[in-house]
Amino acid sequence: MEIILSPYPHTLTASSKKLHGWWPGRRECTGERLLINPYNGCSVGCFFCYARSFPGNFQRWHTQGVVNVSKDFPAQVARQLDRLRVVSCGYLSPVSDPFQKVNERYGYSEKIVEIFVERNIPINVTTKCVIPEKVIKFLSLQQHSFAQVSILTLKENLRKVLSPGGTHTQNLLENFARLRMYKVFSVARIDPIIPYLTDNLKDIEKLVDRVVERGANHIIVSVLDVPVRIKDYVWEKIKVNFGKETLLKLMALYKERIGPYLHAEISYRREIFSALKEIVSSRGVTFALCMEFERVGERLRGLNREFMTSANCDGMDVPIYVRKNFRFSPAYSCKGNCLNCEEALCGIEELAMGKPGSRKDWKFSDYRRWSKMLE
Ligand code: SF4
Ligand code: SF4
Repeated sequence: MEIILSPYPHTLTASSKKLHGWWPGRRECTGERLLINPYNGCSVGCFFCYARSFPGNFQRWHTQGVVNVSKDFPAQVARQLDRLRVVSCGYLSPVSDPFQKVNERYGYSEKIVEIFVERNIPINVTTKCVIPEKVIKFLSLQQHSFAQVSILTLKENLRKVLSPGGTHTQNLLENFARLRMYKVFSVARIDPIIPYLTDNLKDIEKLVDRVVERGANHIIVSVLDVPVRIKDYVWEKIKVNFGKETLLKLMALYKERIGPYLHAEISYRREIFSALKEIVSSRGVTFALCMEFERVGERLRGLNREFMTSANCDGMDVPIYVRKNFRFSPAYSCKGNCLNCEEALCGIEELAMGKPGSRKDWKFSDYRRWSKMLE
């Protein structure tokens, strides 16, 4: 397969990928989303990225640094949306950065945002890069669209080690100011906090102040989880960049295994979440955790029921949308926190996942089924 070197090593392959909802397994994400991944692999290159443990193209990216681009993906997305009568907010992208290097050549992320917005379907972008002006303008045209900016530290030297292919800290902060200028809801993701590297509370407090000053409306935090499959790789990176002593402290903290991930001890996580909930709330913005669980006997319990101060984990209340003609409109004026909803006033019974035993992983075929039901 030909490897195209510019602007970042990648392959361009045909794909029949479908839009889909959250994956099976543990879920804390309250709102339903259509996950969109035009690129597999990511030139931002965070050494702790959980996508490094994924199979297929992600393994090639992890071991050889080659990203895969799904050929003509925006057109495929448009065709799929045009077959639906019911949609949820798009999520660009859960497993790679939408504004990474290859996007300079293909511009798929801009095209996908445009495709959603021209149909009046909400979309959210999540990034550690500069959000193109054109994307911010599109987001500003759609009532429930928003942006999430990942920012782990204010220390630029540390940022360069953690996310070497991401943009400068100053540009990350500017993203918030630019979003505010266009009145686009913005989320600061301090996600993950890396114990002993970025967990100094005074430093995080300063970071919260900087992003809130520039307009962040909501803050999400998590503490680093280490996929067991790439644990040796992560530990080696820590040792090389931060020394053996830091590594030993980290290894001692990461004793708890939940599924395929190692987690920091629950007492450490609880302490940091309690302090940050207070700090963030005192700044007048909402707060939530991303995919944080604790063991209660044999069961896992999501920590957001205790720490989240918003209705939805990403801070934005986005209902399900239904087709009117070419364009879509909100199905019902709810908060869109389907995971906790017990009464599907939007008309899609299965989406109210607050009922015990509900299914939580939805596929394109489910959206098609609901669309036919609405017809
Ligand atoms: S920006 Fe996100 S997807 Fe890209 S390497 Fe970093 S953690 Fe992974
Ligand atoms: S009514 Fe309930 S199930 Fe339907 S979109 Fe709103 S929160 Fe989700």
